[in-house]
Amino acid sequence: MVGTVYRPIKSDRFSQGFGEAKTCINQTTRKVVAKTPPTDVGVCPVGYVDLYKVALRMDGHSGEDWGAVRAEPVVFPVDIPVMEWIAQNHIDKDGGVGVDVFSLHPVPGLGYIKFRFWHLLKSSVYDGQIVKFGDVIGLGDSTGLSTKDHVHWSLKQTSETTRIKFGELFRTKFGVTLNNTNGYYGALNFRLYFDFVNVWANDVVKQRIAEAKADFPVENKEVIAELEKQVVVLTLRVKIATLMKQLAELLKGRKK
Ligand SMILES: [Zn+2]
Repeated sequence: MVGTVYRPIKSDRFSQGFGEAKTCINQTTRKVVAKTPPTDVGVCPVGYVDLYKVALRMDGHSGEDWGAVRAEPVVFPVDIPVMEWIAQNHIDKDGGVGVDVFSLHPVPGLGYIKFRFWHLLKSSVYDGQIVKFGDVIGLGDSTGLSTKDHVHWSLKQTSETTRIKFGELFRTKFGVTLNNTNGYYGALNFRLYFDFVNVWANDVVKQRIAEAKADFPVENKEVIAELEKQVVVLTLRVKIATLMKQLAELLKGRKK
């Protein structure tokens, strides 16, 4: 496993996995609904067809769907030590708001990758923004081809993503999706490459900060004591300098 994926939202309601096909679309109105019952073998209403297998000509759903509360924060949930990530915004033709987060280094066995997050109310990142584990990247919603508020996320392999210095700023050359014809528009089941831990990524970050704080007083007591000593020394120096100045003034007065 190359890293850990936590849950990007606080809501804990899994609704559709990789490769499943529980959704239907009316190709005229572009409205999407869940099959009845919401399973691969469920039935689409009259006028509707299977969203993935018929309308999008895919082998199934290209990522994972988790039910969300409208406008709840979506945080970047992928934890690979020392990896740098960079964000890019998208809006699809059905009004779906999405954020892609690209790796700036190759991942062992996978190469360059990106994680997509879709159906957002809005993005919280700008194109080219450096993103790290636990950063808020957007707010949950139901934009685009979506039956209800949820976050869709998926893994894709890409060509190299690079940042080029451009004056004081950087210009990003985002990688292009590889294996587009794999039946999932290049998407892979991230659970085959990453450990999935069903805990909100934000809780993991909070826990790490709490642990770091708990360690702080013990490891840094000596440093603080040394700094306090230096403050005393500097205060004394200032006092001495002030006294010397006063003495010089006094001596000047005497000479006159
Ligand atoms: Zn989805």
